[in-house]
Parts: sequence; C-alpha cells; structure tokens
Amino acid sequence: MGFSLAIIGRPNVGKSTLFNRLVGRKIAIVDDTPGVTRDRRVHDAKLYDLQFDVVDTAGLEIAPNESLAGRMRAQTDIAIEEADVILFMIDARVGLTPDDRTFADIVRKAGKPLVLVANKTEGRAAEAGAMEAWELGLGQPVEISAEHGLGMADLRDAVVEAI
Ligand code: GDP
Ligand code: MG
Repeated sequence: MGFSLAIIGRPNVGKSTLFNRLVGRKIAIVDDTPGVTRDRRVHDAKLYDLQFDVVDTAGLEIAPNESLAGRMRAQTDIAIEEADVILFMIDARVGLTPDDRTFADIVRKAGKPLVLVANKTEGRAAEAGAMEAWELGLGQPVEISAEHGLGMADLRDAVVEAI
C-alpha cells in the first residue's frame, strides 16, 4: 500500500463499480438509485503493479439534515483531505451536469494530484460525453468502463503520471 486514492463524483457515475473492480470483490453496493453508498469505504486495491488504498464515496447520507449539496460537499471534503490522489469521475453517457461542474471546482481547488475519468465509455453513446469532459479543464479524460473493465491500463498510466 503506497498511497491512497479517493474516487470522487456525483451519485450514479459508477464510483462503487470501479471501487469493487479495484478491490477485486463486491464490497460496495452498486445500484441505479443515486446515493446508495452510505459512507466512505476504504480497502486495499490493485491495478496492475500499483497497490494502494481506494476510497469509495457518496455522501448522500452523511448528514441527513443538510442540503443535498452540503452533504455531498462534506463527504467529498473528508475524502479529498485524506487522499494522495483524486480520481474524479463523470458519466460519459450522460455528459456533464451542474453537479459534475460543482465537484470539478471542489477537486480543482484541492490542488492534489488528479485523474479525470470518463466512465461508461463502452459503446458509441458515450462519445459526446467523453469529449465534453475536456470542458472541465482538468486535462485529458481517461475513458474507462468500470462495469466491463475497459481502459484499466490507461487508468494505471494516468495514476502513475499524476502521483
Ligand atoms: P455510484 O453512485 O457513483 O457509486 O455508481 P454505481 O457504481 O452504484 O453505479 C451506478 C449505475 O451505473 C449502476 O447501475 C451501474 O451498474 C452502472 N455502471 C457503472 N459502471 C458502468 C459502466 O462502465 N457502463 C455502464 N453502462 N454502466 C455502468
Ligand atoms: Mg456508490
């Protein structure tokens, strides 16, 4: 375990799916319903030659009395603070949403090593959204499919470059 990597992004982009793939087991709950991840989950992970701690986040339930934005923000802040590298994920099938842009501003301000990931890029439906990710100004999006295990070598290279 050399470093810690936090997966950040709005609900439903596929964070828990990637977490499970990196961990090699189905630990995090994956669901179509946004916000099913109840807290941060940390586990040792492997990506080719890299070994690290991976952190899964959602933040929707961390402080139920706060606003949605406030809850996501609180969760994200803690994960970012503890991480050595941030993996910021968007859903390339949906394209950029206002929440994506809010999260992008937060991770940009953190000033930590960052990897931008466009998930769900299996198939043509993701092409426009993956292009849109450039608009965030966070560099080249790494195109992956967490569900199908595509783009994992590119992800490994991007993480190595970032840290
Ligand atoms: P989270 O809220 O960001 O943790 O997202 P989840 O990992 O729970 O995934 C949300 C939904 O997206 C689930 O229905 C997943 O099966 C689906 N999903 C995750 N990764 C991919 C992918 O690479 N391609 C497609 N098509 N769907 C995905
Ligand atoms: Mg989740």
